[in-house]
Amino acid sequence: SIPALRIAGISKSFHAGKNQKKALSDVSFSIEQGDFFGLLGPNGAGKSTLIGVLAKTVTPDCGDVSVLGFDIRRDWQQFKMAIGIVPQEITFDPFLSVWETLRLQSGYFGLRHNDKWLNELLEVLDLADKKKESVMRLSGGMKRRVLIAQALVHKPPLIVLDEPTAGVDINLRHSLWTFMEELNRKGHTIILTTHYLEEAERLCRNVAMLNHGRIAALENTRDLLKKYSKDRVVFTLSRPLPEDFPIQVEKLQDGFYCLNYDNPE
Ligand code: ADP
Repeated sequence: SIPALRIAGISKSFHAGKNQKKALSDVSFSIEQGDFFGLLGPNGAGKSTLIGVLAKTVTPDCGDVSVLGFDIRRDWQQFKMAIGIVPQEITFDPFLSVWETLRLQSGYFGLRHNDKWLNELLEVLDLADKKKESVMRLSGGMKRRVLIAQALVHKPPLIVLDEPTAGVDINLRHSLWTFMEELNRKGHTIILTTHYLEEAERLCRNVAMLNHGRIAALENTRDLLKKYSKDRVVFTLSRPLPEDFPIQVEKLQDGFYCLNYDNPE
């Protein structure tokens, strides 16, 4: 069948003065429909650049991108209807309420009669009683829920979330996990970037690891963990882990964390 996402030969360099920085080097991979896919890698690996390419805020130097067979350049209208992106940074029109924010986003997709769906979204994201509140007055966790609702107004078959659980409390993290699993069960393809190995291991069927702008590994999550279980797992986490992190980790000299994974056998 047609892949949910197909990335072929994407490269992107940024020019900072005389220095050229290659953020993505010939990245190619496909994700099957219905997958729950993790995109992992240390800071600076190129994850955000790749998501920027999908959001069309970053123009690659070369390569092709398509969602469900729709080419990002040739079929932009269908492409944007097929993908929902939850960005990492929270930016809203500060003068709008939660409801107005979702209506505005619906307008962007040319949708006018989707109030029923928007109300359902508010309900499942536990935002129903915040409907009339100004987005800027919401807590960080609530803002993140609005950001997710905003990416789903057009019911996209492919949902991309850029570190959705970074910096959220444990309760919201768990409810977001359940929410994402539910979306996946309903048939949505999910792509998630994360720093939390626990998250990737729990949620993602397949993972790709990005390092210095290249795909360093792309595999079924279990196989990957098994393969590296003899020594250490190559997942890297460049942010401090919580005290109660369940698996033993080791801090490397460059500040990354490495897992010592216990083989279940
Ligand atoms: P990640 O999201 O994995 O942390 P990024 O995609 O943000 O990685 O960054 C990849 C590389 O590209 C980094 O070296 C970063 O400094 C560089 N980069 C990203 N965006 C820009 C930009 N707009 N201008 C210059 N360099 C950039």
